[in-house]
Amino acid sequence: MNANRLNVAAALAQARARGIALLDARLMLARLMAASRTWLIGHDEAFLEADVASHWRAWLERRAGGEPLAYLLGQKEFRGLLLDVTPAVLIPRPETELLIDWADALLGDSGSRKSVVDLGTGSGAIALAIKQAHPNTRVVATDTSPAALAVAQGNAERLSLSVEFIEASWWQGLEGRRFDLVLANPPYVREDDPALDALGHEPRAALTPGGDGFGALAAIIAGAAGHLNAKGWLVLEHGFDQAEPVRALLRQAGFEDIETRRDLAGHARATGARRAARP
Ligand code: GLN
Repeated sequence: MNANRLNVAAALAQARARGIALLDARLMLARLMAASRTWLIGHDEAFLEADVASHWRAWLERRAGGEPLAYLLGQKEFRGLLLDVTPAVLIPRPETELLIDWADALLGDSGSRKSVVDLGTGSGAIALAIKQAHPNTRVVATDTSPAALAVAQGNAERLSLSVEFIEASWWQGLEGRRFDLVLANPPYVREDDPALDALGHEPRAALTPGGDGFGALAAIIAGAAGHLNAKGWLVLEHGFDQAEPVRALLRQAGFEDIETRRDLAGHARATGARRAARP
């Protein structure tokens, strides 16, 4: 028995001692050992190879330091799609699936070929989930960050989903383009929100537009009518306390059928509206 060799049970005990949740620890160890979580559960005595043990120590350090699990694993599941993620992109959140449910209902199974844009796509989560569920749609995804676009493009290629990627800052870069449906999960956290402290590993520009948190939402709403086909829809994710101001911006911009929906946690999380038939 070699005292220097680490087995699964001892490795998981190290994680627990560092305050790392058992599920996270199992996912990390399973990945490093190229094993399944189920296999791990039955193999407490299995030894980690030396290179695995050294990776494990590095990952324990990073996870205990608050680095999100998704960045360690390099992957996050969204709407049944396994997406590559790097620190260049926001980690897709479950509440963003609300936008996909909404878009599903709007796109229906109509035979007509609808066009959809995902503004500020990050990992590509929204755009790819739409293309997966509605192969007949034409999907465009934008981001202002070339590094994010590279991640999104890589995901599209790996998943064999055809999406057009454009480097653009909200509507700047989309001149002359019109869509039937505009979707966005833009940065909406206010600059001085203490919640940002816990999100320090994610790209700040994906979380906050600065100031009161409304800059990106307002820019998208202000330009949306000029990029929507008649009766086209705009659906935006926003903060739990931002629904009223977002609705007011949509009213001012002449939108109709304004509706806010709640996420699974009960927070008002997305607001959608329809462009008037005649502006
Ligand atoms: N929902 C994210 C969070 O608060 C914020 C994402 C965003 O700003 N679009 O963790």
